[in-house]
Amino acid sequence: MAREVLDKYRELNLLYNVSAKLEADLDVLEVAGLVIDQASKLITANRGALILLNQTTGLLETIATFGEGYDRNTTLKPGEGIVGSIFTSGQAEIVNHVSSDPRFIPPRHPVSSLICAPLKTKEGTIGAVVMSSEVPVEYTAADLKLFTALASQAGPAIERAILYKTLEEKVKQRTKQLHQRALQLETLYQVGQALSMTLDLDEVLNLILEHLARIVPYDRAAIFLEHQGNLEVAAARGFPDQVEIGQLRIAVREDALFNQVFQQQQPLAIADVVEWPGWQNFENLPLARSWLGLPLVRLTQVIGMLSLVRVTPSPFGEDELTLAATFAGQAAIALQNARLYDKITRFSHELEEMVRERTIALQEAYDKLDRLDRTKTDFINIASHELRTPVTVLKGYSQMLLKDPAIQANDAHYEQIGQIYQGTLRLHEIVDSMLDVAKIDSRALRLYPEPLSMTGLLELLVARLSPTLAERKLKVVIEDLTALPPLEADQDALRKVFYHLLTNAIKYTPDSGQITISGRCLTGEPDSLEIIIADTGIGIDPQFHELIFAKFYQTGELALHSTGKTKFKGAGPGLGLAIVRGIVEAHNGRVWVESQGYDEQSYPGSQFHVVLPLTRPAAKAAVALPTSVAMV
Ligand code: ADP
Repeated sequence: MAREVLDKYRELNLLYNVSAKLEADLDVLEVAGLVIDQASKLITANRGALILLNQTTGLLETIATFGEGYDRNTTLKPGEGIVGSIFTSGQAEIVNHVSSDPRFIPPRHPVSSLICAPLKTKEGTIGAVVMSSEVPVEYTAADLKLFTALASQAGPAIERAILYKTLEEKVKQRTKQLHQRALQLETLYQVGQALSMTLDLDEVLNLILEHLARIVPYDRAAIFLEHQGNLEVAAARGFPDQVEIGQLRIAVREDALFNQVFQQQQPLAIADVVEWPGWQNFENLPLARSWLGLPLVRLTQVIGMLSLVRVTPSPFGEDELTLAATFAGQAAIALQNARLYDKITRFSHELEEMVRERTIALQEAYDKLDRLDRTKTDFINIASHELRTPVTVLKGYSQMLLKDPAIQANDAHYEQIGQIYQGTLRLHEIVDSMLDVAKIDSRALRLYPEPLSMTGLLELLVARLSPTLAERKLKVVIEDLTALPPLEADQDALRKVFYHLLTNAIKYTPDSGQITISGRCLTGEPDSLEIIIADTGIGIDPQFHELIFAKFYQTGELALHSTGKTKFKGAGPGLGLAIVRGIVEAHNGRVWVESQGYDEQSYPGSQFHVVLPLTRPAAKAAVALPTSVAMV
């Protein structure tokens, strides 16, 4: 009796230990091994096995064994043999004489008795545990109870372990997925970085195809760019050498597939193009099987498409599609930037070329003008030198003739000789002006500065012109110039300056008008005098304010001018202001005109400003004068 109690205690203790271990263990194989190990300690047997139902195959698989005879990974159909039918019935059994059991299927190793219990969970039977003996054993009801107790603990433990394993697998899978996703995102980031590093269109196209392969594997891919309703291949990878990429072109409207990608601005994946009606395969290209089309969208406009092909049916997955679409967004930005840059660069090259051509044309025109100007200067030089002597002779003789009593006695002759004399005087003056211009142009004007009073110079000039002023009923007002300090300048040259300015004021002011001469001292670097000759004449259009200082420039039509040096609007050779500027600038001074405009009704008048430095100018040759374009 004491021995029985001891055995009972030992069995209970064993079960307790098993249950504690089973609670802690979460590995199916380990749990199964433990169960079988404990069973061998509880039951008299020389072999045993734990079998579990494989949900996928529907077969019972041996996952743990004890002793020789049961092999791991052997399978059994539910309901087959004694163990199979115990699994199906869900009832533990003792079969002490297996050979007389009708369900018995003789195994490879001899067996006499067995004890088998199903492994149950709340959901149902998940397997069975069996112990058997080669030598006949009389298993008792107590054995069965103990064995069932063990099995009832093993069922949930194994289920827990299976659940844990499934869960663990799921977690592993999810972790793997997350890791993959992180990797893909990292790749996408790197791609974005790489794409934003360059603006070279060819480089961007190549980078797109290269990086795309890292994200979504393909056999061949092409970048199509939209051009006037066509999709043209701008770059491709994986195409056979004999295919001329540049020739590949698709009319978007005619191709239903491409049209769909374009219209919906959404990626389109085709698992197998063989099942796609109307699939067009380019000539010379291996037949595509799985296809992915990604629109390249910039803002709301589709600028092109990425076409990915797998030559074996291997559909593009949902994940790949999402990644590729994100990538296509980056690619579209990079492409558009590169295209814009390309356009700007080409435009700037064209512009540069245009500027170069225009500069050459301008230089040629300038050279031509320069040559013409030099010819004209040469002509003026020669003509004025050649004319000077005969004009002087004419002037001298006509003057002598006018003094001759015989001529003076004849009124008609005297009048005629008088006209000749006036004509030669005017001619002399023009020849002098021509000589001045020639000197200025050839930088041969020499200045002989001396201290002089502007007041004196201007008053003398006005006195000299007083007959003309009286004839034209013009009033000259010289404002108080006494405060003006003397300046160092070439007297003859300055006399010419103000002579021309005053005769112009006379010429372009109608009878009864007024000419005002004013002056002021300007302090600065250097101290200067400013003399202003203002008239109440016809004025000058602002567009001619600079041009009138060019030699031979005259505003208005020559034909409309009357002749005469001081007549209203009398014609002149157009040299006066050119000489004025030449002389003033030789004195380091400035001259300009201010006038509201030209108007022969309201006579807005003109004001010529001459600024001359007070100090003696450095010996300086006059600047060459610009020629009026109008005269060329
Ligand atoms: P011109 O011999 O024709 O007077 P200038 O060089 O002295 O030659 O003057 C050039 C042109 O400037 C003149 O033809 C005239 O149209 C304009 N001009 C010069 N001075 C005046 C002025 N005071 N008022 C209006 N126009 C003037």
